[in-house]
Amino acid sequence: MTYLFETEEHAQLRDNVRRFSQKHIAPFADAWEEACEFPRELYAAAAEAGLFGVSYPVEDGGSGGDVTHALVASEEMVIHGRSVGTCVGLGSHGIALPPIVRLGTPEQKKRFVEPVLRGEKVSSLAISEPNAGSDVAHLLTRAKRDGDAYVVNGTKTFITSGCRADIVTCAVRTGGEGHGGISLLVIERGTPGFTVGKKLKKTGWWASDTAELCFEDCRVPAANLIGEENQGFYAIMINFANERLFLAGQSVAIAELAYRESVAYAKTRTAFGKTLMGHQVIRHKLADMATKIAAARALVSECATRVARGEQVPGLAAMTKNAATDMVMAVADQAVQIHGGNGYMREVLVERLYRDARLYPIGGGTREIMNEIIAKTEGY
Ligand SMILES: Cc1cc2nc3c(=O)[nH]c(=O)nc-3n(C[C@H](O)[C@H](O)[C@H](O)COP(=O)(O)OP(=O)(O)OC[C@H]3O[C@@H](n4cnc5c(N)ncnc54)[C@H](O)[C@@H]3O)c2cc1C
Repeated sequence: MTYLFETEEHAQLRDNVRRFSQKHIAPFADAWEEACEFPRELYAAAAEAGLFGVSYPVEDGGSGGDVTHALVASEEMVIHGRSVGTCVGLGSHGIALPPIVRLGTPEQKKRFVEPVLRGEKVSSLAISEPNAGSDVAHLLTRAKRDGDAYVVNGTKTFITSGCRADIVTCAVRTGGEGHGGISLLVIERGTPGFTVGKKLKKTGWWASDTAELCFEDCRVPAANLIGEENQGFYAIMINFANERLFLAGQSVAIAELAYRESVAYAKTRTAFGKTLMGHQVIRHKLADMATKIAAARALVSECATRVARGEQVPGLAAMTKNAATDMVMAVADQAVQIHGGNGYMREVLVERLYRDARLYPIGGGTREIMNEIIAKTEGY
């Protein structure tokens, strides 16, 4: 399946990402997921193949395009790479870099964006804290101005690619209480006082690393402030809307993969003298799965088209995320059911997809918070 907005350019991009994913990810997917990491060299290989520049401005080292191109690339990598953990780890720049691209100075873009797009450095976005996840406006990591630096103290948690990140786009409190006191600061690996606390063990997304980051009297040059001081909350919210669209797109991709695996299994597995596909109940399960995927895909398409036109659609992005994440949980569950006992076995792909899917109604803003946004924006 493709999106309604796709052109010949998207088709070529799909071809390129498919070839890369089939060669550089799929053969190693199971091993990397079990090992809970993928090799660092993959960043350089992905950049070399032209995958990292997608949707970034040419003047910042990207290859141009918009959110629709990034969505298509992400879908193709999930489906043909067959390792969601690798895709989300490799793609953490997709949430870390956009605020720098949007608000950074030319010098900041040169230092932070370009090396990541060349695959030389790894980037993370650090918003969540042990005591402030959904409630971003009350985050506690403090950055106190001292001469030409900010002195940062605090802890971030659940940070994707946090263990290996060279560049962390970090939300800090530079001002008073609430959303008006938050800024974005880039904190680089090696800055004294910045340590990676621990690599966290999780339900799914195994090949990606998820870390706790600690800052203790960490002096960060004031030149690393992204945008204006105390104006970070708005930038974070814009970033979240894009992230939600991506998570919805990944949900569609995971569901599509689970569906394809289930169709293939149902055509070969036999029970009571015929294939599973020969049983109407199984055919109808598959029909329901395909219908749910198509509905979510249509919403992702609508949302992506509007975002690509430059519209701010936080309500629609939240709806799209909830519809797609409900869908992927239901589809992955039915994929396991169709696989029977095999679906519960570690070496079978749908078992892993079922675990991977569970993150989607939580990460990038929970299902409940999405409903708050939908209610506040009265829909669109
Ligand atoms: C694998 C993984 C990767 C992640 N990657 C990153 C990353 O790279 N960078 C980053 O910054 N963060 C990351 N996160 C964090 C993620 O964004 C948060 O987990 C998420 O925003 C929820 O925050 P929380 O876990 O603190 O839950 P909480 O905010 O404590 O929420 C707990 C429960 O209470 C509900 N709740 C909270 N407030 C309300 C309310 N007002 N009304 C109704 N219900 C409410 C929530 O919906 C949820 O069900 C990641 C998380 C995971 C699991």
